[in-house]
Amino acid sequence: MASPENQISSLSVSELLPPARVLLGPGPSQVHPRVLRALSAPLIGHLDPSFLRLLGETQTCLRRLFQTDHPFTLAISGTGSAGMEAVMINLVEAGDTIVVGVNSLFGTRLATIGERCGAKVIRIEAPWGRAIDPEVIRRTLSGSGPVKLVALVHAETSTGVRQPLDEIGRLCRDRDALFVVDAVTSLGGIPVEIDHWQIDACYSATQKCLSCPPGLSPVTLGPRALATVRGRRSPCPSWYLDVSLIADYWEEAARRYHHTAPISMLYGLREALRVVLEEGLEARFTRHRLHSGALLAGLTTLGLTPLPPEHERLPMLNCVTLPEDIKDRAVRAELLDEYGIEIGGGLGPLQGKVWRIGLMGESATASNVFALLHALESILSRRGWCAGIPGRAIAAASAVYARPGIPLDGVTSA
Ligand code: PLP
Repeated sequence: MASPENQISSLSVSELLPPARVLLGPGPSQVHPRVLRALSAPLIGHLDPSFLRLLGETQTCLRRLFQTDHPFTLAISGTGSAGMEAVMINLVEAGDTIVVGVNSLFGTRLATIGERCGAKVIRIEAPWGRAIDPEVIRRTLSGSGPVKLVALVHAETSTGVRQPLDEIGRLCRDRDALFVVDAVTSLGGIPVEIDHWQIDACYSATQKCLSCPPGLSPVTLGPRALATVRGRRSPCPSWYLDVSLIADYWEEAARRYHHTAPISMLYGLREALRVVLEEGLEARFTRHRLHSGALLAGLTTLGLTPLPPEHERLPMLNCVTLPEDIKDRAVRAELLDEYGIEIGGGLGPLQGKVWRIGLMGESATASNVFALLHALESILSRRGWCAGIPGRAIAAASAVYARPGIPLDGVTSA
């Protein structure tokens, strides 16, 4: 029998009741109610024929989203970093030379993983807040010996920078290098065209523009990447992330146990993908651009200006610089405590200098834009950190929404 001190009532651990939040940070984003319902569906076995059918459907939806025909398109168990690590450690071996774009946090992480694999890493650097110049990539490739792969972050969540990708695939093919892309934040919010852009390996995550909880990493590998995996000189150093073993579970002809699939998360991802594809990719991209435009119009009236230049900005991650007098932490704490709104602060050299405002997936709505602008304007005015006509941020956002032919809220309902 449980002794009284072991009973839950004596432990002051109460029933789970997370506070209500509007998630406008760098991820996770708000989860669609249909996804929440899917997550709570009864469990079946991960080798049950019904579940295996569901896996196949998930792959079909992922291929549509990645705009590819690659058979090896699936979800790795783990967050975006697991996808990043799976791609890198399966493709890179000790002694290889690789090229990595490093213009902030996640490019640095890719380079670190490359170094841990024993590769010589050529870092192409750009300042935090700017994209890597494709011309520098071209010059680097033509000035180096054999290069195994070029890795770039499509959507840098730490700075709000969009990396141009369309020319790089061709440059890589010309030099017989693989092209690896981090689409953790871009997938489902802006086009990610795997086949058209000649991307050989790409990974993403569920908690950004797919509006699913964190826990899975969609990955796609093309024929050149798979040939590299098959031709390795040494076995993949990770057993769990060995894509040849993982493929044995996901391939329709095999379906052999590797590790117990995270069944509920896969229910959630399948439903999230249905929501994305029902909305339609073009409509979803347009919706992200629309709400970002309205948000930035409002923020600019409060003295908060975007960090990246216009042609390098991401719609789902709006990184704005703070005027000197604004106290970053105090405002974000007040936003959370009084309004229940989460936004992100700066990382590394940008700490205290920028805010990162996510409008990802289900979070990209007019009501969220208005709620944040109203809350920010109130806090900043009350503290004497901005002056001007009250309501001007909302008015500026409304003017964007009032343009002819703009649907106010394109979000699908429950
Ligand atoms: N790459 C990018 C661009 C990211 O934004 C993130 C996370 O925010 C990651 C990789 C790592 O993903 P996770 O935190 O899900 O492991």
